[in-house]
Amino acid sequence: ANVPVITIDGPSGSGKGTISRLLAEKLSWHLLDSGAIYRVLAVASLHHEFSPEDEESLVALATDLDVKFVANEDTGLTHVILEGEDVTMAIRTEQVGNQASKIAALPRVREALLRRQRAFRDLPGLVADGRDMGTVVFPNAEAKIFLTASAEERARRRFQQLQEKGMDANMEQLVTEIRERDERDMNRSAAPLKAAEDSLMLDSSSMSVEQVLDKVLQYAHDRL
Ligand code: C5P
Repeated sequence: ANVPVITIDGPSGSGKGTISRLLAEKLSWHLLDSGAIYRVLAVASLHHEFSPEDEESLVALATDLDVKFVANEDTGLTHVILEGEDVTMAIRTEQVGNQASKIAALPRVREALLRRQRAFRDLPGLVADGRDMGTVVFPNAEAKIFLTASAEERARRRFQQLQEKGMDANMEQLVTEIRERDERDMNRSAAPLKAAEDSLMLDSSSMSVEQVLDKVLQYAHDRL
């Protein structure tokens, strides 16, 4: 049977993580957090002290990556397990995010992760969150959304998230890092961050989570 897919792509801090999770919950569909896969790979590469330029080693690491996503029914959280170790929190630091974005620029690493990502497509449906979900990984998805927000608004949200987790954060530094990461994600030659031609563009800068979710649900509903 054809398994329907909704893709949600956009830069970090656009709110796509939250929207994807809520959408998957609402529909009772599977969720692919593709960024988490790049982040896990980044953590593993830091463990092994591989340079982000060492494509050979990183491809081997990506191919054999032992990562599991385990839903905890009680907390509603999805735990990320790397080689038996819970890295749910460890993958969310800025250091790991930046390392992930460097590694993600390597075409052969992306290639090595394709099959793993496509395996998430399972009945009754999949919500796929990332940068290239609608353009590369699931080009035939039923509904594609491209979510953006201004760099300042994204930094503000990130700041709040980090504070809630009790982590240190500096607003100015966050804006700079977000700009750098955008730059790298948009200008790389392998699967750059860009909207699929057939995607719905949404700027969430001055929208609430509920408003974005409503729009996305309506759009998805019309296309399924
Ligand atoms: O979305 P998140 O911030 O967790 O992703 C971390 C990094 O992984 C991004 O900055 C991006 O470089 C990379 N990534 C990617 N393609 C995806 C998801 C994430 O290149 N589909």
